[in-house]
Amino acid sequence: MKAITFQGIKCVQLSEAPDPEIISKKDAIVKVERAAICGSDMHVYHGRETGIDVGTIMGHEFTGTVVDAGEKVSNFKVGDRVFSPFTVNCGECHFCKIGLTARCVKSQLYGWRENGSGLHGVHAEYVRVPMADATLISLPDDLSWEQGNLLADIASTGYFGAELAELKTDDICVVIGCGPVGIMAIKAAKYFRCKTIYAVDGIDFRLDFAKQNGAIPVNYLNESVVEKILERTNGIGADSVIEAVGSKSSMKTAFNILRPGGILASVGVQAFDQLPFSPPDMYDKNIILKAGRCSSRFYAEKLIPLVQNGDLQLTDVITHTFDLKDGVEAYRFFDEKKDKCLKVLLKP
Ligand SMILES: [Zn+2]
Ligand SMILES: [Zn+2]
Repeated sequence: MKAITFQGIKCVQLSEAPDPEIISKKDAIVKVERAAICGSDMHVYHGRETGIDVGTIMGHEFTGTVVDAGEKVSNFKVGDRVFSPFTVNCGECHFCKIGLTARCVKSQLYGWRENGSGLHGVHAEYVRVPMADATLISLPDDLSWEQGNLLADIASTGYFGAELAELKTDDICVVIGCGPVGIMAIKAAKYFRCKTIYAVDGIDFRLDFAKQNGAIPVNYLNESVVEKILERTNGIGADSVIEAVGSKSSMKTAFNILRPGGILASVGVQAFDQLPFSPPDMYDKNIILKAGRCSSRFYAEKLIPLVQNGDLQLTDVITHTFDLKDGVEAYRFFDEKKDKCLKVLLKP
């Protein structure tokens, strides 16, 4: 089958890879109908994550059709429309049972292989899904492949951020980072009826997206975010910040614009060693810090009805779709944010 594989820093290629096969009786094989390139694929692409095997198939967001299922798969059959969270999970451990599927003791991330073990990704024609009964989610007939794709990660992650922020109607919330996850966090904040949402980014077309979704744009390259938020809140600060970048500077900004007792909900993949504020800083400001990977198996299922009844409109973030065979160009396009590119789908 055709697949986009990791070859080195800023180097992916269209490869011929073996078709995946059932290894365990709990596996399913899914034909990928749509896959998406995610901001976290860029961590691999840029070599910020080290140790990934050359030849690993990239990607972790997809929807598809079941084409084979192991003997112990009972919830799904050949022909079923499905999607998957970006990590697989067992459904049986303590963390799965409390909805913290991101911390399943058997969790594995698609597109992550080290020293010959781990899971291949989904930027391919087919993918093997371990623990299929617990991992896969049925995609209702009235949801599109595209909607399923967004539920699989970014919509869930954005909603998770908004939930962590404990938003109330009169709160002032700031979303830092207006990539796809940040935009989804804004949509979720609106769903939670938060009236005042500021959106921070340095790229105008992303800020336009945020504005279209009801947020007040702040370009940090043109104005001081701290000054602006403090000025707009009479010196008090924001009630919550949803941090969707994962950089030291965005965490520092988040800390500086929060009011005492505010909530910092960080859902960006953190790529630095030390927080830019100290335990005494947190103590002196009574900051509540929440962080972590979204348990998208839990959230995606919960969000299906909200997408079905129109409370969450997702697909405007998809700006481009490429054929899988043009996947190398799609990576470059996404990385360089060409043509106001926000979210890219691949179509095998
Ligand atoms: Zn993702
Ligand atoms: Zn588990």
